[in-house]
Amino acid sequence: MRTLLAGLCLLLAAPVFVFAEQPDEAARRIQAQVLGFDTHNDTVQRVAYLNADLGKRSSDGMIDLPRLREGGIHVPFFALWVPTYYKGSEAVRRTLDLRDAMQRLLDKYPDQIELATSARDIERIVGQKKIAAVLTVEGGHQIADDLAVLRMYRRMGVLSMTLTHFRNNNWADSSTDKPAHNGLTDFGKQVVREMNAIGMIVDISHVSDKTFYDALEVTTKPVIASHSSCRALSDVPRNMTDDMLRALAKNGGVVGVNFSAAFLNQQDAENLKKKTTQENALEPTMTGAALDDYAKKEYLADYATTHIGHATLDDAANCIDHIVKVAGIDHVGIGSDFDGIPDVPKGLEDVSKMPDLTAALLKRGYTEVDIQKIMGGNMLRVLEAVVGE
Ligand SMILES: [Zn+2]
Repeated sequence: MRTLLAGLCLLLAAPVFVFAEQPDEAARRIQAQVLGFDTHNDTVQRVAYLNADLGKRSSDGMIDLPRLREGGIHVPFFALWVPTYYKGSEAVRRTLDLRDAMQRLLDKYPDQIELATSARDIERIVGQKKIAAVLTVEGGHQIADDLAVLRMYRRMGVLSMTLTHFRNNNWADSSTDKPAHNGLTDFGKQVVREMNAIGMIVDISHVSDKTFYDALEVTTKPVIASHSSCRALSDVPRNMTDDMLRALAKNGGVVGVNFSAAFLNQQDAENLKKKTTQENALEPTMTGAALDDYAKKEYLADYATTHIGHATLDDAANCIDHIVKVAGIDHVGIGSDFDGIPDVPKGLEDVSKMPDLTAALLKRGYTEVDIQKIMGGNMLRVLEAVVGE
């Protein structure tokens, strides 16, 4: 009887609770409870180049531990990104430098952040109210054409790799370079098979359309686009066409929406196009510390010019709407690219603003279950399928 009564009370109380909660309040509550995946940030660069202390809330940059908690992003993917002009062993050396920078952060704040290398790790660490850090490698050039290097990255806790970055490498074409291999070479296909075998997620952000379709042909596991948006809304080669979105859905994969203003809004895209044509610079030929110095100067110059674009938070919500319409609610996630984008949308300037995006989605009629999927459920499904529990 008591159970019956309690059940009745719950039934009566539930609708009152739902209507009493304003979207902003509901958004903050939901965002605090979701797993909170964001499948791409470039924050390790700030640690490596600027010695940023992520344990403290900063007025600089877009991500630190306090703002991750505030934004309800509990599972950030930290990219170990190395520019493509680092060739062969230089790219491997630089990857190790960044892995080391990440380790310093993990060692300094063990009570706040922990490395996650499985789905269960993620659930346990988030359950303990800590940040579950996932490591990724951004650019297939970083394996120096050697599958042993790829396997060692996996053993260092790297769970995912984008097949290319801005330039082609020796085995895959990039979306922002002239085609050289007609997609993936035979070795490139071997890389995809090896990633499937060792439990590493194939990330198709940055690759050319042909490389994308080649990768889907070869992979036996779901893939992700860790930080890409919709080409139907902003026509840049880094974004996904509707046909690619449908193919990704068929594969069981997920696309994490990139918050770069230029990837969300056509007006910002036009500005980016002008800038990228100017930037087709010569590649440096130095090595070691001299190369790191060159990269640091380039990074600082880019970092200093970050601005707010024409895009707004609503453009990010529009992109989510579009992916849901074309690919379905099970194939969309978040891939902010924070600390790696030159332009941010108004209202989504840093990771602490994530509850505002959730509030916008609630206003558009998304349910709490939908939001749980977008904010992590979908990506966890892929991680379970590829990396394992
Ligand atoms: Zn990127």
